[in-house]
Amino acid sequence: MRQSAPLERIFSAYRVTLLSVLTLVVCLAMLSLADIFWIQEGRTLTPVGVMRMIAGGVLVLLLLNGYQQVKRALRDAEVEQQARLDSAHRDSLTGVFTRAHFIERMRQHLRPGQALSYLQLDMDNLKVLNDSHGHVAGDAALVHLTRTLHDMLPQALIGRLGGDEFGIAVPGADNRAAMVRLGDLLIARLGEPVAIEGRNIRLSATIGVAMAPADGAEVDVLMAKADLALYKGKRLGRATTIAFEADFLADERHKRFVERELRAAILLNELELHYQPVFASDGKTVLSHEALVRWVHPVRGQMAPSAFIPIAEQSDLIDKLGDWVLRRAAADRVRLGGEGVAVNVSAVQLRRADFALRFAEILQRAGRTGREFTIEITESVPLHPGSVELQNIEKLRALGVLVAIDDFGAGFTSIEYLRRFPFDVLKIDRSYIMHLPGSRVDGLLVSAICKIARSLNVSVVAEGVETPEQLAYLRRAGCEQLQGFLLARPAPLHVLRPLAAPAAAAA
Ligand code: C2E
Ligand code: CA
Ligand code: CA
Repeated sequence: MRQSAPLERIFSAYRVTLLSVLTLVVCLAMLSLADIFWIQEGRTLTPVGVMRMIAGGVLVLLLLNGYQQVKRALRDAEVEQQARLDSAHRDSLTGVFTRAHFIERMRQHLRPGQALSYLQLDMDNLKVLNDSHGHVAGDAALVHLTRTLHDMLPQALIGRLGGDEFGIAVPGADNRAAMVRLGDLLIARLGEPVAIEGRNIRLSATIGVAMAPADGAEVDVLMAKADLALYKGKRLGRATTIAFEADFLADERHKRFVERELRAAILLNELELHYQPVFASDGKTVLSHEALVRWVHPVRGQMAPSAFIPIAEQSDLIDKLGDWVLRRAAADRVRLGGEGVAVNVSAVQLRRADFALRFAEILQRAGRTGREFTIEITESVPLHPGSVELQNIEKLRALGVLVAIDDFGAGFTSIEYLRRFPFDVLKIDRSYIMHLPGSRVDGLLVSAICKIARSLNVSVVAEGVETPEQLAYLRRAGCEQLQGFLLARPAPLHVLRPLAAPAAAAA
């Protein structure tokens, strides 16, 4: 990739060398002349001696100067050549280096023993922006992002690695804490509102950091490690900077193990579905059930959903898992009784364009109707007008499927969410119930949420009811539906207490 310096530069360098050599010859001639005089006159220190000394000095100076000029000329030629290469390998939209050129430039800086920090940045909301405001807005956001990067890091190498992924190399830096602070500063700057297509938009990004020589001395290694750190950041809720740690590699191996085994478990039908009843406020009448997946690994034993769902969400496994859960729930539906059964749906599943279609197909094959099912989604699902997620939800609602907001209050955007989003059930997160009746603030919040739900004409479910005191408090607060270990733990279908009568009668 690296090319030789232009010929004219080399020629000019040679000219300077030639001049130096010529000078050397002249000086030598002068010396010889001086020597002749010296012998003829037979004196010890004469003007000839002085001449010889001056000639020697001039000779050395000229040689040094010639050498410096050759060096400078070569360096200038190289810089110029690099600039020419850099400008030929720029991303046409953002003007930063292309992926291949960025990698090459980073490689040049990774000389043995040299420090370099590598930051891998992935935008959190470009897809949402493209979906909701169009591609022109998405492009403008990318340009704004790279401008911000250049502004804050004028000396860094910046490359576009893929759609909304960027690499930033900071030569000479190897202070992990300082790099994390820098990443967070970048994220904060990107979070400032910017006018795009007539709207004020805030950008969000997640950054993974790895550094040479501590984490590796090769580009591939640094990029892979920063990528792992980035992934960690995405899982921790995005908009954060995470530096690579050695434990992440073990996590990666664990992840591959879980993926492989879970894929097999789905294929071999080794998963189980447990059901947790949802009760009316009397705490006795079962209204419906929530399906919760269970996986007992032959060697590792019981695996908690929180240990494998986030891993499944990183590939198509979550779709396979979701389909399996729905098929199982649809097959169990009649024996479960009650008004219906709720399945948990991950934000990743809703992102697939064919989600609603597949959902409908599974119900149809099982001979069930949409009205018998609820999907539980969390506030992590981005809901913008026209988004794939919203389209899926609308298609399902058209089939009669109910939509529940799960873990309500655990996210950050709760009230805004309620305003913008069509839903039928609100499930108050366990963290609000946990401190009842002791916590006055939680008590007030729960009462307020119940009131809001009533005024919006949606059902409200309190999750995680564990004590009779909580039950009594929730009843007083007007919470119509209750779920929790006090009333019933999740259990397989054959263990559930059979429903004496259709629950709807008691509701
Ligand atoms: P979630 O949807 O909030 O489910 C409720 C969780 O709280 C369940 O944990 C349930 O066992 C637990 N729980 C219920 N009552 C109580 C209580 O009184 N006290 C306490 N401490 N916990 C209670 P589980 O089964 O471990 O599921 C954890 C999460 O995993 C679920 O949270 C849900 O987000 C996810 N999940 C479970 N099954 C599926 C599934 O089939 N698909 C998807 N996408 N996610 C699932
Ligand atoms: Ca749930
Ligand atoms: Ca929940």
